[in-house]
Amino acid sequence: MSLSLAERVARVVRDVPDFPKPGITFKDITPLLADATLMREVVRAMQAPFAGAGITHVVAMESRGFLFGVPMALDLGAAFVPVRKPGKLPWRTASERYALEYGDDTLEMHVDAVEPGARVLLVDDVLATGGTAAAAARLVERHGGVIAGLSVLMELGFLRGRDALGDRRTEAVWVVR
Ligand code: AMP
Repeated sequence: MSLSLAERVARVVRDVPDFPKPGITFKDITPLLADATLMREVVRAMQAPFAGAGITHVVAMESRGFLFGVPMALDLGAAFVPVRKPGKLPWRTASERYALEYGDDTLEMHVDAVEPGARVLLVDDVLATGGTAAAAARLVERHGGVIAGLSVLMELGFLRGRDALGDRRTEAVWVVR
């Protein structure tokens, strides 16, 4: 019997315990990046649910979101927009803070990256608590962009990150239970 795409992704993504700190099991996607055939399939699967959604901009979160967001934007014929940690983007930025388990963090986007009426697909590798994706969604919406949805490679379902996105559409290739 042939394996589903989610099963094949699950076989190559590596669990690294206690990285970057104790208690976190890091999902290492580098073996997937090394497999061009599987990577191509993953990129297609991540964009497929949004093929008819009129996406004008792919907004991806630093840094692993870029690895999926750029090829998706090329295929969709959409603009690619990086959302980054503070101080990394060279031009004028807008920022959005979000809560972490301890403290908070900030995301930045260039002020001219998304124009009002843009139809935006958010992209990242992992949806965990949803804090990052929700902050990126707020950044886009503050600039008049419309969130068509969020597409991730994997969703850590037990963390219920989907709830942080509210009624914004969320799609994952692999939901880790
Ligand atoms: P969150 O804001 O909690 O949904 O976290 C999502 C962001 O953190 C994404 O940009 C992921 O790349 C990263 N991330 C969170 N948890 C993990 C994990 N277990 N393995 C790899 N990356 C993670």
